[in-house]
Amino acid sequence: MDRIDHDIVVLGSGLAGLRAALEASRVSHGRLDVGIVTKVQAMRSHSVAAEGGTAAVLYPDEGDTLDGHVWDTVKGSDFLADQDAVELFVNTAPEEIRLLERWGMPWSRRPDGRIAQRPFGGHEFPRATFAADKVGFLEMQTLYGAIQGFPNVRVHHEWFATSILSDGERFRGITGIDLKSGDFVVVRAKAGIIATGGAGRIFGFTTHGHHSTADGLYMAYRAGLGLKDMEFIQFHPTGLVPSGILITEAARGEGGYLVNRDGERFMKRYAERKLELAPRDVVSRSEMTEINEGRGIDGPEGIPCVGVDLRHLGKEKILERLPQIREVTMKFLGIDPVDDIIPIKPAAHFTMGGVHTDLRGATELKGLWAAGEAACVSIHGANRLGSNSTSICLVYGRIAGVEAAAYVKAWQGDGIPKVQILEEEGRIYGATLRGTGDVNPYDVRDRLQAIMDRDAYVFRTGEGLSRALKAVRGLKEEAYRQVSDKVKEYNTNLLHVLELDALLNAAEIVLVGALARQESRGAHTRLDYPKRDDVNWLTHSLAHRTAAGPRLSYVPVTITKHQPVERKY
Ligand SMILES: Cc1cc2nc3c(=O)[nH]c(=O)nc-3n(C[C@H](O)[C@H](O)[C@H](O)COP(=O)(O)OP(=O)(O)OC[C@H]3O[C@@H](n4cnc5c(N)ncnc54)[C@H](O)[C@@H]3O)c2cc1C
Repeated sequence: MDRIDHDIVVLGSGLAGLRAALEASRVSHGRLDVGIVTKVQAMRSHSVAAEGGTAAVLYPDEGDTLDGHVWDTVKGSDFLADQDAVELFVNTAPEEIRLLERWGMPWSRRPDGRIAQRPFGGHEFPRATFAADKVGFLEMQTLYGAIQGFPNVRVHHEWFATSILSDGERFRGITGIDLKSGDFVVVRAKAGIIATGGAGRIFGFTTHGHHSTADGLYMAYRAGLGLKDMEFIQFHPTGLVPSGILITEAARGEGGYLVNRDGERFMKRYAERKLELAPRDVVSRSEMTEINEGRGIDGPEGIPCVGVDLRHLGKEKILERLPQIREVTMKFLGIDPVDDIIPIKPAAHFTMGGVHTDLRGATELKGLWAAGEAACVSIHGANRLGSNSTSICLVYGRIAGVEAAAYVKAWQGDGIPKVQILEEEGRIYGATLRGTGDVNPYDVRDRLQAIMDRDAYVFRTGEGLSRALKAVRGLKEEAYRQVSDKVKEYNTNLLHVLELDALLNAAEIVLVGALARQESRGAHTRLDYPKRDDVNWLTHSLAHRTAAGPRLSYVPVTITKHQPVERKY
């Protein structure tokens, strides 16, 4: 076993993790020892796939307002967002855009030289700041570059974190596997920040990278922390069929149409004013209604879908503003959006829920924060607006970095929970690596994803959710914890089995929360409870772990200014 010490350990090197490490370093003038643990090479984090934009109010002189961004976000959330958190986020986001600019971010610009912004779904003002359709990649590169100026930051690439260490009262560090050597590692740290991203891979048809397997959520859950609002999964209206690769919302922001088999712009039936730029929950339901009522297009592999039509934008605009979309459709489907309609349908895209935190990103364990998609502050509520996530990663990465740095300065304890470490070593190298069983873990993962794609998708019912829950609990009991590859170095087979534990548990929590929530709100649509129910359900769900499965409790939503009203777009 190898042990190393850091003042702060950041789990994850996506936008939230990099921003947190950078801020902890900036506020401590490079004096704190910061470690970033990431299971991939840092720059391969899912954040590099973000395409369309990062929301912030940049132009009050042209009519945008902070209040407008707050209102759009709260309304978009179907009133489940905590409004004090939304206000803090919206007020901080503009400065993050300028900071990134100072660190070298090549934002796309307008002819007058000012930073350009484009329209995005659910926003009443074009406030998505962008760099063509490669926003996340360039933001990541900018932050990664800025971190190079801080020798106090050490990145542990390809280290897989497996558990959170605590003495019952405070965070004490983490355990993990150095994937390259296969060695068990213990990182002792005074403070920690969970920035491990979302749970997209509990679904098969998803825009998410293969490493979005909910590990951080599962670690927090096993450490006794609450996961909040996990029933709310966002389905992005434009997942490329059949792969699920994302066609960015910027395609519609730049003027693309959604069309059915008759070439009709069907959104006029569902969102008269905002049309294609209604929020994602509304657009996804509309698409599925078109498909279910027989107006879909026969897509590749016979999959029913609808289409994104960009042809009227012209080649020049597509090449300037949406080059990656063109490249993806040409490479993966052999079609060119300059001449052809792109086949799409809703794909699992974002985990609105996550580790329960307070307004400053603190979890229920002293010394531990969460930021980015892994966290639920909550700002997205029941439905996130496009372009708000990358911005929240920046804002809450920064807040968590500040808070963790201040905590480390004030608390200098040490020590390490030895029994917990031994148990964890046993779980990995005994029960899992040497586990006996005859069920293929990859088969279990495929079956899990098929269940979730069928029963926890855009339209849900009590019957489907119960069936799915029973099936997922059945999968959890199967003897899949067996690793046929026994090598020590780079054992991805072991990694995948550990990830599968996280996926199965995350799926169970999503289903338990979704079955309990007998209403339709945001992305959670119950055909058997089609209305929003503010009397009984204007409340956040919290799932804690027990031997019998997730135990649900509920915490109030913070409302400052905006009382719930009917959402119309
Ligand atoms: C295709 C796509 C396009 C998107 N486009 C946009 C957009 O245009 N605008 C927008 O606002 N949002 C967009 N989003 C959403 C947004 O990009 C993500 O929510 C955000 O980037 C998540 O960042 P993160 O830092 O929380 O985590 P991620 O970038 O997902 O990174 C997770 C990190 O955690 C690490 N990790 C996970 N588990 C472990 C473990 N067990 N041990 C060690 N490390 C671990 C990973 O290595 C990785 O570094 C998009 C999402 C997708 C999938």
